[in-house]
Amino acid sequence: MAEIKRMFINGEWVEAEGGERIEVMNPSTGEQVGAVSFGDGRDAVKAIAAANEAFAGWSRLTARERSKYLYNLYELVRKHRDELAGIISAEMGKPLREAKGEVLGAADNFMWYAEEAKRVYGETIPSSVPNKRIMVMKQPVGVVAAITPWNFPVNMVARKIAPALAAGCTVVLKPAESTPLSAVRLFELIEQAGFPKGVVNLVIGNPELIGQEFTASKKVRKITFTGSTRVGKLLMEGAAQTVKKVSLELGGHAPFIIFEDADLDAAVQGLFESKFRTSGQMCICTNRLYVHESVLDTFTDKLVERMRRTKVGDGREKDTEIGPLVNEQGLNKVLDHIQDAREKGAHIAYGGQRLTEGEYAKGFYCEPTVLTNVTKEMKIYSEETFGPVVPIIPFTEEEVVVQQANDSDYGLAAYVYTQNNSRCFRMAEALEYGIVGVNDGAPTQTQAPFGGYKESGIGREGGYYALEEFLETKFVSFGL
Ligand code: ADP
Repeated sequence: MAEIKRMFINGEWVEAEGGERIEVMNPSTGEQVGAVSFGDGRDAVKAIAAANEAFAGWSRLTARERSKYLYNLYELVRKHRDELAGIISAEMGKPLREAKGEVLGAADNFMWYAEEAKRVYGETIPSSVPNKRIMVMKQPVGVVAAITPWNFPVNMVARKIAPALAAGCTVVLKPAESTPLSAVRLFELIEQAGFPKGVVNLVIGNPELIGQEFTASKKVRKITFTGSTRVGKLLMEGAAQTVKKVSLELGGHAPFIIFEDADLDAAVQGLFESKFRTSGQMCICTNRLYVHESVLDTFTDKLVERMRRTKVGDGREKDTEIGPLVNEQGLNKVLDHIQDAREKGAHIAYGGQRLTEGEYAKGFYCEPTVLTNVTKEMKIYSEETFGPVVPIIPFTEEEVVVQQANDSDYGLAAYVYTQNNSRCFRMAEALEYGIVGVNDGAPTQTQAPFGGYKESGIGREGGYYALEEFLETKFVSFGL
């Protein structure tokens, strides 16, 4: 039996009150890679109390003092980058090269917010009467409850806790139950970085029970969540009980549009980045590929040719470009979307099957797949697939493709490839998405705002925008 990893509450490593534990599995091989203590609402209550207790001290530190802890953490995460990447890869199958990129992204967040912590500026505003002065100050919202998914088990945590801590908030984090080991290792580094006890707490366990404590507690003043739209709506509803602030990063269904004047080689590369990273399991992944009819055949040939050279395999192997899906349920959803499209008339230009032979026998692998003749009636056209499947839809008119691209309940990311400058601007303005990659298939950066329109979410992560999400605005009127 592997060592049981524990939760981190009020500066101590503790077992769940209920004594439960769960195993963590590697989706590349089906092997057990660890075990963790698995808590419930009682553990959440303890962690919230600890964060609440720590808030006064942490929020009163100078920004420079808070910055030092974040900077320590930045250095530790960088130093342990290979080890953290190995854990990510072992518990959710991400290729090592990508996992290292993720860890560096997390480190970058800690550094960026270590800097930005020092720049939480207020304002003075000219008064309309001579005997008053208007001052605006920014203050931390209070205790933050953060819930993160499994697809970026280190960086999703960093993107939430770095700005929260920089703003002066204290935090309780609940990571996804399939990837707790990355969070535990990150919290060991948080402990090493020297944060005062209770400032950052880790609770692992039953999502419903912990989520209920987070939403019901009057001490928690903010919920920050990344995950499915279904759970985001539940949390928003729950948060209404105490009118908490919420930031939600939810699902997506990104259109990727290739015009007749696009650089097709760049478009293939961009599509690869937007579609196949994390095996297609990112909320900004392409879900509908619109290709201008005049370049459809050339583009499809180039794409298929690139896919033939792509190595699918165990995330921990050096040459792996695409890993497995996270679990059987994830794999089945992808296979169901392929099957449904097939039955409704789609043609498989490449792939289309589960991989089951040899090295693939015990993991959850799906061949990277290209579907043509995709139509609106197919599930894949409107539901998030979360897997390595490219559905191609031909188009001819710019206005029509804009309408089609916007015809979605989601509004997270969209991509456009064209070499016409005027069209770049027209498209960037017309697409109802929070992130638009113009000739760019991988638009995320630490300092840029990340978030969605419509049912893709509320609020923004990244840059100064994320810091704002953890700050209250206070108006002080001075009578003279
Ligand atoms: P995914 O389909 O990507 O797993 P989920 O929304 O189910 O997306 O999970 C994202 C995060 O939300 C995970 O940490 C999960 O444990 C958590 N979660 C799932 N259900 C609930 C719930 N009812 N309340 C609070 N958190 C939840």
